[in-house]
Amino acid sequence: MTRPTIRPDLRTMEGYHSPQLDVEVRLNTNEAPFPPPAGFLSAFLDEVGRIDWHRYPDRLAQSLREDIAAVHDVEPQQIFVANGSNEVLQTICLTFGGSGRSVATFEPTYAMYQQIARTTQCEVIEVARDSQHRVSLSEVITVVTRHHPDIIFFCSPNNPTGTPESLEVIEAALQISDGVVVVDEAYGQFADFTALDLLRGPYASESLIVTRTFSKTWSMAGARLGYCVAPSWMLPEFEKVVLPYHLDSVKQIAGRVALRFHDEMEHRVRQLGSERDRVAAALTDLGLDVWPSQANFIMFRTTPCSVSGDHVWQRLVDQSVLIRNCSNWPGLSDCLRVTLGTESENHIFLEALKEALT
Ligand SMILES: *Cc1c(COP(=O)(O)O)cnc(C)c1O
Repeated sequence: MTRPTIRPDLRTMEGYHSPQLDVEVRLNTNEAPFPPPAGFLSAFLDEVGRIDWHRYPDRLAQSLREDIAAVHDVEPQQIFVANGSNEVLQTICLTFGGSGRSVATFEPTYAMYQQIARTTQCEVIEVARDSQHRVSLSEVITVVTRHHPDIIFFCSPNNPTGTPESLEVIEAALQISDGVVVVDEAYGQFADFTALDLLRGPYASESLIVTRTFSKTWSMAGARLGYCVAPSWMLPEFEKVVLPYHLDSVKQIAGRVALRFHDEMEHRVRQLGSERDRVAAALTDLGLDVWPSQANFIMFRTTPCSVSGDHVWQRLVDQSVLIRNCSNWPGLSDCLRVTLGTESENHIFLEALKEALT
């Protein structure tokens, strides 16, 4: 029996992989090192007990959108919520991309931009970052004037390098591009810069979308909840491509309850920020090349210590510590990315790393 053929453009593609191993210290996927705050679970269970299970959820997730809008001081009609910010990115590609349209990415960056762009049949235009992994203004101008991308993806701070984008670059893109400009702020709370300011006030942009997620700062990677802040005219357009009732009742509750713990989350962000500065200093002291990070992870290069990235990564695994090996990404030879863990996990990592470098 013959198998039906799949879409020709999917034949050479692979799915997204983030290798998982059974280890004691897992610092490879940029999750929060702690579970949600103590009061979260009981408040959540209490609300879940009141769900009308035989009814569809609130299709527009009105209450959750109101609560998120209040956090950012914008209108609820500016908030679109989905199953992780990956679904937000997919919704953007379905709305503004598709066959005959194009997406620009600045590499190395979050691999899902290209993955989602391709599965939604957009053409991908790859632009290289400069030697410091920054997006240069001249490259933005070149890609926009030459290719007129329908979607431009910025990532601030950028995964995996940890560097934030500059306001200058994003403003330039907004000024010269006819397409949408997406700023993925999955790690935005850890950074000095946010593009959200460009969405508020009398000169609010009509083409900017800022995405956020509950997966990292909010200790809720397991819930799969993300959102974007966008100009309100886009929301009815997003509703056309997203499945009806895509956001289940449980998730809507999880998000609303999480937002009640805002102060506790801010405290954790500060705590992780100081751990980041401590670990980055320790990595520099070991003689490694360390990129200045404004996220909850740090990228470093092992070559100044005369060892390969692959070797160091394996020797860490041998000591039951898992970090992300970026060595085979274009432009990131011998680079590794470590997520900040608890103080004791970071200690174990640093000790194992010293061992691995000898
Ligand atoms: C982790 C991450 C996301 C998060 O995706 P979710 O689907 O919300 O879990 C988005 N963008 C970047 C750059 C990330 O690193």
